[in-house]
Amino acid sequence: MIGRVANKVAMVTGGASGLGEATSLLLAREGARVAVADVAQEAGERLAERIRAEGGDAMFVPLDVSSESAWDAAMAQVQQRCGKLNILVNNAGIAPEGDMEMSFELWRKVMSVNLDGTFLGTRAGIRAMRSSGEPGSIINISSTMAMTAFPTTAAYSASKGGVRSLTKAAAMYCGAHRLPIRVNSIHPGMCVTPLVAGYYENNPEALQAQIDMHPIGHLGTAEDIAEGVLYLASEASRFVLGSELVIDGGFLAR
Ligand code: NAD
Repeated sequence: MIGRVANKVAMVTGGASGLGEATSLLLAREGARVAVADVAQEAGERLAERIRAEGGDAMFVPLDVSSESAWDAAMAQVQQRCGKLNILVNNAGIAPEGDMEMSFELWRKVMSVNLDGTFLGTRAGIRAMRSSGEPGSIINISSTMAMTAFPTTAAYSASKGGVRSLTKAAAMYCGAHRLPIRVNSIHPGMCVTPLVAGYYENNPEALQAQIDMHPIGHLGTAEDIAEGVLYLASEASRFVLGSELVIDGGFLAR
């Protein structure tokens, strides 16, 4: 069977854990050569090894998405080793709690990873894909928190709202320049990953309250989101540009 992203080169930021890990595994199983890009070197190398052991093709690339020079180095490494880039998943993100009284330092930290990181990634992705001359797909992982907020998600909601809007601007840019590059965002509802598990480990009531906010009756999994990434990465979504794919068990429909 031919995979849905066979012969494509994919780079997944924050690829070592959670949604990024599930996405790296699925893209590799569907035939892509995957660059797992992350600050977490050990976990990233372990995952690349696991993909290779399964018969896939993967490598680890060290990357702090908030650093412009780190993006230059990481993208050069991918292009040097793989010769091109077709799929970029800007997934790395952090979600520390913080309300309107939070420190400016915390605000800047969230913005630098979630929003600066997605800008730098989208720009680097467009440049790499344009130079490889093949169709490309950039998928930015935003959140339902781009459309709504809790009192403790001030910076997180603002950063993910920024990712949502930036994605549309990037899509318009690619359209205006007739670049064969599609840019779209995904808006996951609450999925059980290391990012959120810590909050709920010792707080079953808060966990139940979260579940109650998802009309489908349960939280999501990393694999639920990876399926959406695969759709946007593959030719099946060839007419999809500047869109926002909500995968949230009905959270926003309430
Ligand atoms: P996670 O904590 O399990 O994984 C995040 C990964 O990003 C980790 O491997 C981490 O090392 C990496 N990372 C963190 N900062 C980085 C940086 N500066 N440079 C490179 N890598 C960095 O988190 P997750 O739940 O898998 O979340 C992935 C993305 O999905 C995030 O953007 C998050 O905001 C978004 N999201 C998650 C949920 C959810 O419920 N889990 C919901 C909506 C959106």
